[in-house]
Amino acid sequence: MSFKDIKGQDRPIQLLQRYIESGQLTGSYLFAGPEGIGKRIAAVTLARAVNCLKNKGDSCDTCPSCIKIEKGAHPDIFFLGSQGGEDIKIESIRQLQNDIALRPYEARKKVFIIDNAHRLTKEASHALLKTLEEPPEDSLIILVSEKPSLLFKTVISRCKIIRFYPLGRRETEESLKSNYGLSNEAAHFLAFFSEGRLGRAIKIKEAGVFEEKNRIIDEFIFSRKTNLSASILREREGLRLGLNILAGWFRDIYMVKIGMPYCALINLDRKNDLLRAMNRYSFSELNEIFNLLSDSLLYLEQNVNAKLLFSNLKISLKG
Ligand SMILES: [Zn+2]
Repeated sequence: MSFKDIKGQDRPIQLLQRYIESGQLTGSYLFAGPEGIGKRIAAVTLARAVNCLKNKGDSCDTCPSCIKIEKGAHPDIFFLGSQGGEDIKIESIRQLQNDIALRPYEARKKVFIIDNAHRLTKEASHALLKTLEEPPEDSLIILVSEKPSLLFKTVISRCKIIRFYPLGRRETEESLKSNYGLSNEAAHFLAFFSEGRLGRAIKIKEAGVFEEKNRIIDEFIFSRKTNLSASILREREGLRLGLNILAGWFRDIYMVKIGMPYCALINLDRKNDLLRAMNRYSFSELNEIFNLLSDSLLYLEQNVNAKLLFSNLKISLKG
């Protein structure tokens, strides 16, 4: 993956490339912005770009350095923090401080990528301050966070902030079609459902959410069965997704009732079913359903029996 493959983030990418070209890429950076829009990929691509043996200012994807970094096997590129979001403890920062003090084995610049940096503990954050302020010339520290407001101000103030923004729904939809070969229907739904976050759209596509959402709609809205077979409903994250899918469905019913253009529908692929279903609900019933769904999301956070929650919900939705 080179910089040109990162879609819809032209501003932050151009900024980074300018820093590289002018030799100003030094110190510590914070890549901030919502989840699933390319921050982490940009951080790894930056690590490759500054160390590429062929290109200047971008990754070639083919030289030994680029390949090693891609595989996570480069001795001078360090990853801290997990995507699972566990706390980043002071021990990890002490290790970083040991590693940063050594000369690079083979890289031009050692790169330390601290993912989910908002999970740095208080002690870890304090320990990191001095290093953030003056990392050695041959090292670069990149903090990545979707929740930068949870970082200590003292940490933020020592970093150059690179902001990443969601693509927007239309651009995401286009990109899903032209770069990922998705059908019009799937691209439209995923672009809406991910709120224009391309990385998130791809993640939920890979989880089969487009197909599953139709199963959920069929089982909840159009079938009289009470046992639900949609497989994403088997774990908690999937249950949350299921509730959001239902919320999207009833939001669409509301939209067709008030006469919004069809392109504003999340479930555009089910337009005819929406038109068929819209007279089943009055506006006040829709309001009740929205309340019910948002209560259910809350209950889910409180670890209630999810199976019971969903069968009660099904009964309430007049399925
Ligand atoms: Zn290369």
